Amino acid sequence: MSKIILTGDRPTGRLHVGHYVGSLKRRVELQDSGEFDDIYIMIADAQALTDNADNPEKVRQNIVEVALDYLACGLDPKKTTILIQSMIPELTELSFYYMNLVTVSRLQRNPTVKSEIQMRNFEASIPVGFFTYPISQAADITAFKATTVPVGDDQLPMIEQTREIVHKFNAVYGDTLVEPEAFLPDNKACLRLPGTDGKAKMSKSLGNCIYLADTEEDVRKKIMSMFTDPNHLRVEDPGEVEGNPVFIYLDAFSTKEHFEEYLPEYDGLEELKAHYKRGGLGDVKVKKFLNNVMQSVLAPIRERRKVWEKDIPAVYEILKAGSEKAEKVAAHTLAEVRGAMKINYFEDGALIREQAEKYK
Ligand code: ATP
Ligand code: MG
Repeated sequence: MSKIILTGDRPTGRLHVGHYVGSLKRRVELQDSGEFDDIYIMIADAQALTDNADNPEKVRQNIVEVALDYLACGLDPKKTTILIQSMIPELTELSFYYMNLVTVSRLQRNPTVKSEIQMRNFEASIPVGFFTYPISQAADITAFKATTVPVGDDQLPMIEQTREIVHKFNAVYGDTLVEPEAFLPDNKACLRLPGTDGKAKMSKSLGNCIYLADTEEDVRKKIMSMFTDPNHLRVEDPGEVEGNPVFIYLDAFSTKEHFEEYLPEYDGLEELKAHYKRGGLGDVKVKKFLNNVMQSVLAPIRERRKVWEKDIPAVYEILKAGSEKAEKVAAHTLAEVRGAMKINYFEDGALIREQAEKYK
């Protein structure tokens, strides 16, 4: 069986370092591993509209921002198909058929959707489109017969929902769809990177992000004013590293080489943590180190982005070519789905003969 990747992002803002460690970095590694037959990366504009219906301009503006972030991180259009969701109408049709295989109560149980509804104050007035977006995500994944979906852990309930839809579809209509698997970062800190404000998730919608495109100075300012252990008031106080975003970021980003270069007096992160816990290590020193680490990760991304920013028409060409290629693949799957559901009336010679027979 082919090994196929599908994943994507909502064009609701520029991409941030949570996206980078949660999914983007992995995608580039998988792309360069040569182990996959096809890789599709989707800019999920239709999904972004489910909670931004009154602000299509925001979505429209951010499509190219997300594409620039992809290219800046090293996604290579020669190896990876980058597509825009709404340019593939087959996805909408698949969603419509899958809706019949999912109950309202099943959607209501989805923990990610539940917390997103709360975050957006949608409790009293959830748009139907937003409520059903896990179904549209199942359409996106299955349209490309994806086997592997590299995502952060907030997406696990969506993959589970997709697997249920695939099971149900195949059981009712015969083997047609492929069951996908989530591919999570192996580093725990990367599963759901917290915000700079210490909130559980760095998220475009919460404004607690370090963006991949932030300037060197912006990154420095954000890091120096980051939330840490609120009880670590004086340098000599013992500090808490569990749940402390500065240390979580170090878990996610720092390497042995970073210590050798910027903090050679420590053997590595464990020693730095031990010192912080013991007391005698100030937040400013740790933050300065984190800033060096982040700048060294972000500098090459920022540079590559600048090159692509000079050729925006070429970026749109990449999106157009990717969307056209993706549409052909999705159309093929949709034809199979229609065939399996027996809603391919004009292609079904047996049906026409059978009906004709009835009236003989
Ligand atoms: P929005 O607030 O509009 O939902 P978002 O920041 O949650 O935006 P998405 O486009 O929904 O971003 O998510 C894209 C991908 O990035 C998903 O695979 C998601 O799991 C991953 N991701 C998003 N935020 C984080 C994070 N803080 N840590 C790790 N992975 C993340
Ligand atoms: Mg999200």
